[in-house]
Amino acid sequence: MSMTVETATLPTLLTALRLPTVARLWPEFCTRADKEGWPAERLLAALCELELSEREQRPHSQRHLAAARLPQGKTLDAFDFLAVPTLSQARVRALVEGDSWLQAGHNLLAFGPPGSGKTHLAGAIGYELIQRGYRVLMARTSDLVQRLQVARQDLALTQEIAKLDKFDLLILDDLSYVRKDQAETSALFELISARYERRSIMITANQPFSGWDAIFPDRAMTIAAIDRLVHHATIFEMNVESYRRRAAYAAATSLSDIEDDRDKQQPEKEIATAKDNSRPATLSSEIET
Ligand code: ADP
Ligand code: MG
Repeated sequence: MSMTVETATLPTLLTALRLPTVARLWPEFCTRADKEGWPAERLLAALCELELSEREQRPHSQRHLAAARLPQGKTLDAFDFLAVPTLSQARVRALVEGDSWLQAGHNLLAFGPPGSGKTHLAGAIGYELIQRGYRVLMARTSDLVQRLQVARQDLALTQEIAKLDKFDLLILDDLSYVRKDQAETSALFELISARYERRSIMITANQPFSGWDAIFPDRAMTIAAIDRLVHHATIFEMNVESYRRRAAYAAATSLSDIEDDRDKQQPEKEIATAKDNSRPATLSSEIET
């Protein structure tokens, strides 16, 4: 196609008009139209139709991504699975590819000390699901519980919980940090009960169940909540040292390698210890009772 003054300004015009699909496709389509002798209105209609159909899909996932409040840049591709030997990459990939667990309202639970990658993993799973057309909401558990608590005061707890039904997966990050206030935590219990066997929940927590007595107001409610959560759940045990701390340590030792030869043995020793303690990758266990 020959570049005239008109065609030279087209990309700018189309960008200003927010027509990215037309901006991408017009050279190819115009060449074809010229070659095959399309009437002008056929060319125009073809480009408009494509713009519209891409637009219908595009804002969808972008809007859903914005609404999900995921942490920026935490994807599965950026997650170093070798750093968490108890976590099976194949298992995680299979979960984001398959939807039977979401349809059945099964849950995901990730346990590990601070810095072990729970928030990163949860955000990455959320991101992958949104790419596949699911709706996800990620929140700090204490923030969400706060919101439910406000709704309860307005006698609108049931409606507030129902609003969350539109999310296929609700990620409750840092369950262990919920304030141990009785009313708050029973709102959390009501949320868990309402979604049971219908809508999925992913929970991240520093402590596995043994520490949850401190989260729920009484033992009976703790047991009831755990019961519902684990009935159909995949559990990720991420019992590794803080990724941040290890990264800082690795940086420090490689620096001192340059400065001091004696330090060379240190990283090898570190790896050997890590191997001794590591458990098989299949340990991220699935509980189906
Ligand atoms: P947690 O939620 O368990 O406290 P985070 O997910 O916030 O830990 O991880 C702390 C930081 O370390 C984040 O910047 C995260 O991206 C990074 N990180 C943790 N684990 C990994 C990993 N396995 N691969 C890549 N980055 C990781
Ligand atoms: Mg976290």
